[in-house]
Amino acid sequence: MASGQIYDVAIIGGGIAGLSVALRLPQSMRVALFTKGQLGESNTRYAQGGLSVALGADDSPALHLQDTLVAGASLCDEDAVRILVEEGPAAARWLMQMGVQFDRKQPGSDAHATPDGLLLGREAAHSRWRVLHAGGDATGAEIERALMTALQKRTSITLYEETYVSRLLMHDGACTGLEAVNKDGQTFTVMSRSTVLANGGAGGLWLHTSNPAGATADGLALAWRAGAALTDLEFMQFHPTVLLMDGTSHLISEAVRGEGAYLRNHAGERFMLRYAAQAELAPRDVVARAILSEMLAEETDCQYLDLRHLAAEKMHARFPTISAICGSYGLDLARDLLPIAPAAHYCMGGVMVDTNGHTNVPGLYAVGEVACTGVHGANRLASNSLLEGLVFGLRVAGVLSGNSVDSEPTNARHTVLASLPDEQIAPETLSFATMDDAAMRSEVRRIMWQFVSLCRDQSGLLEAKQHIQALRQSLFALSRETSEQTMHTARWKETENMLLVAELVIAAALKRCESRGSHWRSDYEQLDETLTGCHYTFTREMPAMTGANPRQEIIAYA
Ligand SMILES: Cc1cc2nc3c(=O)[nH]c(=O)nc-3n(C[C@H](O)[C@H](O)[C@H](O)COP(=O)(O)OP(=O)(O)OC[C@H]3O[C@@H](n4cnc5c(N)ncnc54)[C@H](O)[C@@H]3O)c2cc1C
Repeated sequence: MASGQIYDVAIIGGGIAGLSVALRLPQSMRVALFTKGQLGESNTRYAQGGLSVALGADDSPALHLQDTLVAGASLCDEDAVRILVEEGPAAARWLMQMGVQFDRKQPGSDAHATPDGLLLGREAAHSRWRVLHAGGDATGAEIERALMTALQKRTSITLYEETYVSRLLMHDGACTGLEAVNKDGQTFTVMSRSTVLANGGAGGLWLHTSNPAGATADGLALAWRAGAALTDLEFMQFHPTVLLMDGTSHLISEAVRGEGAYLRNHAGERFMLRYAAQAELAPRDVVARAILSEMLAEETDCQYLDLRHLAAEKMHARFPTISAICGSYGLDLARDLLPIAPAAHYCMGGVMVDTNGHTNVPGLYAVGEVACTGVHGANRLASNSLLEGLVFGLRVAGVLSGNSVDSEPTNARHTVLASLPDEQIAPETLSFATMDDAAMRSEVRRIMWQFVSLCRDQSGLLEAKQHIQALRQSLFALSRETSEQTMHTARWKETENMLLVAELVIAAALKRCESRGSHWRSDYEQLDETLTGCHYTFTREMPAMTGANPRQEIIAYA
């Protein structure tokens, strides 16, 4: 194994979070940036709706804060949300300085816009028009384009593209670098004073997902193995409207409903009026569950999105990407009913960090979708995740470059140690011995979809746990017959990571015996007020605790 390069900062991830950290660091620092696919291939690239930021004349960070807290179902960290919304406007302007071109109002248009002419979109549960977008519905692609271009000009940043980070290096309890495998299969290590996880999310754990193939929860698994605490894992957001055609899943942005699209059942009824006062613009969990409920009542596998009452030309111009996706399946966005269903979309939980990106492991930081700053609570407000990656990415860079006051990492959200309830079922009762790792991966996704998606209950979760534990054992058994070389491939490691994180998500979902935000338990249908503000945090080793918050339970999970 080759070893050697030494960097000030190693960043794992080239989405909005990793690129914001990298580009904000001073050029005097030596930085390594890793992406497992080609640079640009990330969840960021597929973001459609945009970046929410309080820039409208009738808007304010206080209103944005309020909307975020309401969507988060009393589980947001209010201090973190305040940072998000107050630092959002300056961060968005930094993004524009980096070359991102958000859509602007045409002369004479009556569209909603900021006083300086940036177009604003509207999305569910936002009380104002506040979503900056680019290319209509190609916001993520424009952000990636601009930041990649800026990156290419930075000689201080070494890019390790198509290089899979397989392990964090540890010394005396601190993270000191990482091990990676390049596309030729060569394993090497780099040393770094600080390592930043910006690996993105875990949507790939579910059969139906809006996420691209790379969202296999690698960052959560890397952090876990290094001893970092993971929190709020039971909260996975399911996007209400993913186009279902030919077995593929393509997101149809919330902004489409923001522009006035309706949801209809097979009887043609605009059913959301029965479920929420905000109808189609209710929070995501409400809309997703209403769709599921209609699907179950009608015994169908989809419901419909209807734009037929909206101006066709305007819709095609506003949503060119979605229009093209629909077109590729022979559907006209503005004239046909679009078959949609919910799918796994965004992981609210993640590596527990403070507002400067510190994990509980010295030398290890996390930012973006892989991290849990607490800004999303139990349910993310639409278009707040690009903003989170950006705002907290800039903050992490500030800390790493010594330009910000670096507070001591606080574990203020920690308190009580609890052990897992005794719910283990002997894994030997199931066997997946004949499966290869690709088949196991499909099986994880099927199990997570069946038992750990929009509607959960104890018996389903226990069954899922039993299956996943058996799959983990089978993979372990398979590893004894498999060459070292195969086990070091990205595919193999990803499968291991998916199984590990699936088990943790299930454990978290079992622990929360209530329905709140995106976590809906049919055996505990009500929100339990005594759990308001309570977080379940999992860790292999108990971190040193410097704060006390009776609302956080720490679970040692070996
Ligand atoms: C279809 C879709 C639409 C969305 N629309 C919106 C929207 O309109 N507004 C909004 O705010 N949010 C939206 N989101 C969510 C948002 O896009 C993501 O939460 C956000 O982009 C995550 O950014 P990130 O930088 O944390 O991770 P990502 O953008 O996912 O980047 C992850 C990076 O980590 C790298 N990586 C991962 N594991 C490894 C490894 N082991 N080794 C090396 N590299 C690794 C990947 O190669 C990639 O470069 C959308 C998401 C999807 C999927």
